[in-house]
Amino acid sequence: MTRAHPAGPRHGDLLLPTSAPTPPTDAGELDRLTWPTHAARDAAGALTIAGVPVTQLADTFGTPVFVIDAEDLRSRARAYAHAFDGLSPAGVDVYYAGKAFLASAIARWVTAEGLGLDVCSGGELSLARRAGVPGERMLFHGNNKSLAELRQAVHEGVSRIVVDSFDELDRLALVAAEADAAEATVPVPVLVRVTLGVEAHTHEFIATAHEDQKFGFSLASGSALAAVRRVVADPHLRLVGVHSHIGSQIFVASGFEVAAHRAVGFLAEVASQLGVTVGELNLGGGLGIRYTEADTPLDISEIAPVLVRIVAEECARRDLPMPRLAFEPGRAIVGPSTITVYRVGTVKPRSLEGGGRRVYVSVDGGMSDNIRTALYDADYTVTLANRVSLAPPVLCRVVGKHCESGDIVVRDAWLPGDVTGGDLLAVAATGAYNRSMASNYNLVPRPAVVAVADGEAAVVVRRETLDDLFATDAGLA
Ligand SMILES: *Cc1c(COP(=O)(O)O)cnc(C)c1O
Repeated sequence: MTRAHPAGPRHGDLLLPTSAPTPPTDAGELDRLTWPTHAARDAAGALTIAGVPVTQLADTFGTPVFVIDAEDLRSRARAYAHAFDGLSPAGVDVYYAGKAFLASAIARWVTAEGLGLDVCSGGELSLARRAGVPGERMLFHGNNKSLAELRQAVHEGVSRIVVDSFDELDRLALVAAEADAAEATVPVPVLVRVTLGVEAHTHEFIATAHEDQKFGFSLASGSALAAVRRVVADPHLRLVGVHSHIGSQIFVASGFEVAAHRAVGFLAEVASQLGVTVGELNLGGGLGIRYTEADTPLDISEIAPVLVRIVAEECARRDLPMPRLAFEPGRAIVGPSTITVYRVGTVKPRSLEGGGRRVYVSVDGGMSDNIRTALYDADYTVTLANRVSLAPPVLCRVVGKHCESGDIVVRDAWLPGDVTGGDLLAVAATGAYNRSMASNYNLVPRPAVVAVADGEAAVVVRRETLDDLFATDAGLA
């Protein structure tokens, strides 16, 4: 069975013990590059985040709980905000992709560190506004923005609206004309999202002519040029630039290289066909993070000069001025900062076909707080978090509490053989696309998100209650 995976197709079948990860020698060891910067073990062997033991966090806030190392998150935001300083005379903007995880605290932290905010729904836009982020700091994405969402974005003065289709151009033209009539505003700033036919995955990229997906205007068919033509011709719209997002969990610059080559080729086409100089090129997000030791992301300080040089060389080759650049990292900002702490319930050994044994370790969450394993075959690192054990490691599968056999949190993990009910497990790098994709499957309330800094924990999002859940049920009101 081949399944979708952000890092490319992969066989989602059971791994036999022989192909599972090698057992660690020290089950309590924390890989520095996988766990948050301020993760450690205290004298009792408990995992701590910024000085607070997860045992204490579990007692105070319950489990499952997402724990953010706040300084880790903020320092990644800071690094991205400054990684491009002085690299391009035309300037570089970095927007945090809020879909990875958005709460008021996150919106405030990333903007305080100097990032803009990329939102892709009326909900994300409203949250950011209520958190005090002005429209000028925001960019608005989405392949099916409604009239109401476009009105909201224009009304809030969002700095860039990324148009994704001709239908949307119709809607935006209408909204921009209305706004102009009512408020005599400046033309609405627009980026045209282009599908370049480049898909980047982890260590590979695929450059194809086919563009069989829902996002953007196709480059190959000429739609992209037609879209730019329409924006330029509409007095209520202002062409700011061109956008292209090529994928997720990317570890190599080669995918961006192909994308930049095609994107700059498109800017040249716009210049020659329409006589318009495109001022901005947004290359989207997608920079990879370390979920397990198999992932080897580059540091943004290393990759930023490479990205700028790639575009500069393409522009020089085509005799075009260097555009302002923009990037939209989501995962790389929040992903590594956060862990999920679960409490173990049932522990069930099973024998494997062909010999061997796997222990199913059930935790008190699962696919409702981490859908990525089921959805993309994602891999995660897990550790026993309330203590260190010297018991020989056994091959485990960490599973959730939901009524679904695909409810797997970590497919293959070596945990100490004495792991038992009441223990705590921590899963690393769950800051992106975990809480933000959480569901109430089986009417399970979604977990709290807690931020820890300097030995102090603060609630970012409180745990849902059953009353929260049932509030929308008309028969229970
Ligand atoms: C998802 C997305 C991002 C962020 O991707 P990450 O992999 O989290 O960095 C940025 N831009 C667009 C248009 C996206 O769809």
